[in-house]
Order: sequence, then C-alpha cells, then structure tokens
Amino acid sequence: TQTLHIIGGGMAGAEAAWQAANMGVPVVIHEMRPAVGTFAHRTGSLAEMVCSNSFRSDDDEQNAVGLLHWEMRAANGLIMQTADQHALPAGGALAVDRDPFAETVTARLRAHPLVRVEPGEIAELPDSGHWIIATGPLTSGALADAIAAETGREALAFFDAIAPIVHFDSVDLSKAWFQSRYDKGETEEQRTAYLNCPMDRDTYEAFIDALLAAHKAEFKPGETAGYFDGCLPIEVMAERGRETLRHGPMKPVGLTNPHQPDVKAHAIVQLRRDNALGTLYNIVGFQTKMKYGAQTEVLRMIPGLENARFARLGGIHRNTFLNSPTLLDGEMRLRSRPHVRFAGQITGVEGYVESAAMGLLAGRLAASEILGRPVSAPPPETATGALVTHITGGAEAKTFQPMNVNFGLFPPVDLKGGRRNRPARYKAYTDRAKAAWQDWLGHFTVGKAAE
Ligand code: FAD
Repeated sequence: TQTLHIIGGGMAGAEAAWQAANMGVPVVIHEMRPAVGTFAHRTGSLAEMVCSNSFRSDDDEQNAVGLLHWEMRAANGLIMQTADQHALPAGGALAVDRDPFAETVTARLRAHPLVRVEPGEIAELPDSGHWIIATGPLTSGALADAIAAETGREALAFFDAIAPIVHFDSVDLSKAWFQSRYDKGETEEQRTAYLNCPMDRDTYEAFIDALLAAHKAEFKPGETAGYFDGCLPIEVMAERGRETLRHGPMKPVGLTNPHQPDVKAHAIVQLRRDNALGTLYNIVGFQTKMKYGAQTEVLRMIPGLENARFARLGGIHRNTFLNSPTLLDGEMRLRSRPHVRFAGQITGVEGYVESAAMGLLAGRLAASEILGRPVSAPPPETATGALVTHITGGAEAKTFQPMNVNFGLFPPVDLKGGRRNRPARYKAYTDRAKAAWQDWLGHFTVGKAAE
C-alpha cells in the first residue's frame, strides 16, 4: 500500500494519521518541532494545545461543537479518546489536562505499527505521492512561501481579522432592513446581501463611549507585524476620533430606513450575508480585538441586535489560512495539485476541535483513495460535513474568514413553531446529524474497529 505523508503533527495531523493508519495505510508524520519552533508551541509533543485547555461544550444535543465531539468519538477519534482520558472537571465543557493529553497522543501514534514520525521541517510543496498539509495557523515561513507561490499570495492569509457573525434569525427586523448601498442589485440574492441597523446621535455617542471603555485583548510579541495594513479594529478607529467610524464602516449614506423614511440616520451598521444559506451575517468592517464579554455587550447596543446571537465573535490573530472556497475541492484536495490535501486550521476552520475534525476527515478521505475505494465527504447535515461544505463552497470566497462550527452552517430544519423552541430545533439538528454520520461511517469497509 502506498504511504500517506502528513506535514504537521498538530490537532489535525495527529488525527489524520490515526484514521489513515487504522484503515491499514502506512503513514509518515513530518513534524518540525522541536528543532524548529513557533511563538506559541512550548514542547516537542504532537497535538500540543497552544493556548486554552478547553474543547468547549460537550453537549451533543444542544451544541454544534459538542456534536462534533460526538461524531469524532463515533469515528474512533484519537484526539477525543485522549481528551476524555485526560478530562478535567469543567461543568458542561470538556477541559483537558494538556501535557498528559499531548504526551498520550504522541505515545499512541509512535506505538502504532503503521505510523512513523519523521522529524524536520518540510519547505516545499510535494510533487508526487499522497500528502496532507496540516501545518496550522503558524505554518513555517518557508512552507507558507511555497504554498503562496502555488496559490497566489492573495489566496493565503497570514492574519485573520474576524468581524463578528450573527445568526440571521436573531436580528430584529422591526428595526433592521435589507438594502444594498445605493440600491445596487435587483435579484433576490442581491436584495438580501446586506442588512442595515440605524443609529441616532445619542446611540452613536453612547456606542463610541462603550467602545473606548471596552477591554481589549493583548497581542503577544511578534504577533502584530503587518496587521495594520487595512484591517484596523473598530475600537482603534474609535480612538482615532469619535467621527472616524461614521466616516468609515458606519457611514449613513446611500440607504433609506423603510421603518422611518423621514428620519436621517446618524450612523448605520451594515451586515453582509456570510453564507449561501443566508443563515449568517457578518458585521461589515467590525473586526475587533475586544474581549468576548465586552464585545457582546457593546454589539448588543446596535439597534436591531439587542438580542443577537453570535455564531462567532470577532478577533484578530496571527493565522495562516487558505482561501479554501476557491482553492480546495469538496474532498479537501488542492485543485491545482489533487494529490495534496489540506486539513486543520490552515483550511479556514477555527479551534482545536474543528481542526481535529478536519484532520479526521482528510485522513479518511486520503486513505480511502489510496486503498482504491474512495469515499465522498459526509453530507452537510453532519457537523463535520457542514464545516467542510462551508469552507470548500458555502462561504463567500471574497470575505472568507476562519469559522467555528455552529448550527448556522447546517441546512435548516423545518419544525412547526420551531423558531421559538430553540432546544427542540437544536435537538432536531443533532438527531439528524447523528443518523447521517452513522450512515457515512458505514461507507468505510475497513478501519471501523479500534486499534
Ligand atoms: P497545529 O495544532 O498548530 O499543528 C500544526 C503543526 O505543524 C505544528 O505541530 C507545527 O509545529 C507543524 N508545522 C508547521 N509548519 C511545518 C513545516 N513546514 N514542516 C513540518 N511541520 C510543520 N484554538 C482553540 O480551540 N482554543 C484556543 O485557545 C486557541 N488559542 C490559540 C492561540 C494561538 C496563539 C494560536 C496561534 C492558535 C490558537 N488556537 C486555539 C487555534 C489552534 O491553533 C488551532 O485550533 C489548532 O491547534 C490547530 O490545529 P492544526 O492541527 O491545524 O495546527
């Protein structure tokens, strides 16, 4: 059997290796640490958790990330098995004892008869063979340059500047309205491209005060280089002058509020549709490094967003990631070099759990291809399928930013009176996902049994 080479033994690479090896495919993991480090990693272990020690909610009935846990457990995932083994008490969340976790993942992969760990940095894109690149948000400079040479520099980002994303069904449409600036666009899709939230002078002034007072996350040394090129956080814009936002992302021109046609808004916050389903909208130009608690409070001051639920909050980080909607096919292969797959955070998912899930998927897809019995990606009704569908096609390519798993990525479920009964709706999502995931796992003729 041909060998699968995996570059990067982080969350994604470790899980990909485990899945492929358990399907009977020999795997080599190329890992640059400890010889070459990153600013965030401290050890030479595989699957090191670089920051928080949380895998977030473990609720597989009401929470999309908990559902992702469930799917990975059902697929005999190494990252989840090991996280469960080293879980720490944390209420409904899955917190992990990070050092024994990473040491156990490393030991189990090293002990696997079909896995070999090859130390060293890979600096070139491979020309032949079967490869998965899972080098993460801190991909080494040499490899990032090689990837950018292949994809074009504009298709590989080195920072994310994430504007908060809101669930459409939590926007108050008695205050907000659909309209593109200067009424560009006639089709239904163009008509719903933007949502607008108006502010009068008092609300605007209070909003600026709150922004200036809000706590900000600090950067680590070396993390900020280049970030001022065109993606200023809103609180930094507010610091430059109280009117700056009104002349920037909040300018009130080219728009008419149908709820109050005679009143001229002092400022307008625009939201742009973020996915083809129209379930998610991002707040245009609102990248921010405010802490999450402060961020939620400040954003809910925006008329129409008082009860907003956030699919993800804003942030600015050092993060190497591809414009996956244009570069990857639905099976995570690089369109220009289909023998190379990408997995993990570099594909534009965000977080330990999402990255491991994309590793699990890439490992299984690559191994099934090597074995001559290719399996397609799981359907978008599953959490894993919803994520991969989003990054490889559902997301808007032009404004693509990394994404956490959330129910806004799933095809909506139709429940009578469902809008008001959120627990029932989420349960319907997770029930549907579990059945579809079990079906998908059934396509694999090998690798079902634990090692
Ligand atoms: P990683 O886990 O980073 O693994 C990539 C691996 O590739 C590394 O081991 C690296 O050494 C190796 N590598 C890189 N380049 C090469 C090369 N050229 N050759 C060989 N090996 C290479 N997520 C959360 O869920 N919670 C958090 O609190 C959190 N905090 C974060 C803080 C920081 C500072 C950063 C940068 C990220 C944070 N993330 C957090 C995101 C987190 O990195 C990812 O969620 C997750 O680790 C990504 O998994 P991955 O496998 O894609 O990348």
